[in-house]
Amino acid sequence: MLIVMQHGATAEQIQRVVEVIKGMGYQARPMPGAQRTAVGLVGNDGRVDESRLAGLGGVKEIIHVTQPYKQVSREWKQESTVVRLPGGLTIGGEEVVVMAGPCSVESEEQILAAARAVREAGAAILRGGAFKPRSSPYSFQGMGLEGLRLLARAREETGLLIVTEAMDPESLDFVAEHADIIQIGARNMQNFPLLKLAGRAGKPVLLKRGIAATITELLLSAEYLLSEGNHDVILCERGIRGFDPSTRNVFDLTAIAVVHELSHLPIIADPSHGTGRRDKVIPMARAAVAAGADGIMVEVHPNPPEALSDGAQSLYPEQFTELMRETRVIAEAIHRRVSEPLPASIGA
Ligand code: PEP
Ligand code: MN
Repeated sequence: MLIVMQHGATAEQIQRVVEVIKGMGYQARPMPGAQRTAVGLVGNDGRVDESRLAGLGGVKEIIHVTQPYKQVSREWKQESTVVRLPGGLTIGGEEVVVMAGPCSVESEEQILAAARAVREAGAAILRGGAFKPRSSPYSFQGMGLEGLRLLARAREETGLLIVTEAMDPESLDFVAEHADIIQIGARNMQNFPLLKLAGRAGKPVLLKRGIAATITELLLSAEYLLSEGNHDVILCERGIRGFDPSTRNVFDLTAIAVVHELSHLPIIADPSHGTGRRDKVIPMARAAVAAGADGIMVEVHPNPPEALSDGAQSLYPEQFTELMRETRVIAEAIHRRVSEPLPASIGA
């Protein structure tokens, strides 16, 4: 529920609304906007006596958020959220951010080579999994903590910010300590205890759409993060399971436009997992940016045939350079621009 204040409402009137909400046993979130201030009532269990709020001084109207998710909805907050990262990099504004790197961190040599290559081509954020959710227990499971240290080294050298996955509460603490963005993977999109912890981790979260999750389920999972106080949430469309084995997943570009309508949160797209095929990544990256994605996440490996995970969908560095070139053209055509990487000294 949103309590919308009149244009000229005083600070005291707003404070009074906050106090009444708290007195009723709910949380109050004042949200100053360009036109007016609204106070969000969090935790409405259907028993709020709204007449007590409607009668307070300075209250213009009470809006019921009709969606099952509340704080992530555009009804709750009309202006798009811009997530601010170290060094002034933003996600969700005019810029289109590119996150690139290998599926997994495999060695110091590999991650540094990947970081240098994607930095050179113009990516701003380095991706790479240290804790890997693998379908088979016999597949490479990631380097763990050592992988995080190597990512931090790569950041120090290149200035690239780091996004990497946390799989469970233990890895979440390590990831929150080392990374600039905590990735919650598709397989964990509905791991609610993990979401609650990530909501309190104090770092931006990249939440990937579950393998067979609806958009409503994705937004409800994001609601867990916001309800714990973390408003720096970036969503990610990474393809959903379909019936056609031609591609690894069905890359749902519609989700980008639908999420932008329903939510103020930024959404990026991952054409690597979305297609599973190296030769389909560039066209789908172009399409995602054209569809309005606030960024893309792309797997790039210095030597894809040797990759320990997802080699078939990993681009060669030269292909990534081409992807960046084409992506810049598409971004400009829709009056956006691809964000520049930060100088090496800022990420250190
Ligand atoms: C990944 O980004 O490497 C990954 C495992 O992605 P997803 O969770 O989308 O499968
Ligand atoms: Mn991968």
